[in-house]
Amino acid sequence: MLELTLIGYWRSTADPLWPDPAWFVDESWASSERARVLAYLRDGVALWATGGHSWCRFRCGTHACGSGELSDGRFLWPEGLAHYVERHGVRPPDEFVEHALAGTPLVDISDIARTLGPGDVSIDASWWSNQRGFRAGASHLSPPRRGTFVARSPGAAPKLAVLRLIRRLPEAQALSYPALLERLAGGGAVPVLSGAFEEPIPHEISELEAAGLFIEFLPDRGEG
Ligand SMILES: [Zn+2]
Repeated sequence: MLELTLIGYWRSTADPLWPDPAWFVDESWASSERARVLAYLRDGVALWATGGHSWCRFRCGTHACGSGELSDGRFLWPEGLAHYVERHGVRPPDEFVEHALAGTPLVDISDIARTLGPGDVSIDASWWSNQRGFRAGASHLSPPRRGTFVARSPGAAPKLAVLRLIRRLPEAQALSYPALLERLAGGGAVPVLSGAFEEPIPHEISELEAAGLFIEFLPDRGEG
C-alpha cells in the first residue's frame, strides 16, 4: 500500500474546505530555493489524470493548469501546483519544501506507478486541508468579486466553431463575426460576460476555456 499525502488543492465556492492560495504567497522566498521546488514539482511522476482542467484561482489568464496528479511516492499534487509557485509566489508548507529540497533530484517512482491498482493507494487529505499558510486573512475570492470575463485567442485566429461559442455570450454579440475575428486574430481581448461573479465560473465560460481560449476576469471598479 502506497500512502500519499495530498497537497495543492485550492479553495473555491464548490470546494470551500481547501486552503486559499493567497494564504501561501511569499514574495520574499529565495528564488534559488523556489526554482528547486518548482523543478521538483514538475519532475513528479504522473499517477493518473483527473477529469477536466483546473483553473487558476488568481485568474492570471492561464486557461489550463493541467489535469494530472503527480507524485514522488510521499506527496501527491495536481499538475497545476507548479503554476502557483512559478507565477504567483506561492510557497508550499515547510514540510513539503524541506522534503523537496532534501530529495532533489526526485526519486523516480515510475516503476511503482505502473503497477498500482486503484486499491493500492491510500491518500491522506487531512494534512493539507488543515494548512493555513503564512498570511492569515488574505483571500483570492472573499467576498466574491463582480466584473467582466474577457476572452483572448492564444496564437492563431480561432476556428469558426470557437467564434460561434463566443457569440453565444451576450457581450460578444455587440461585435459582428468579422469584427470579432479581427479582434481575436490581432491578439485583442473580447468582453464576453459582464456583471458576473468571479466564481463559480459560469458554465459558458468554462466551455470557452475548454475550447482553448484564454479567459481573464476583470473586476469592476471599486471591487479590485
Ligand atoms: Zn495564474
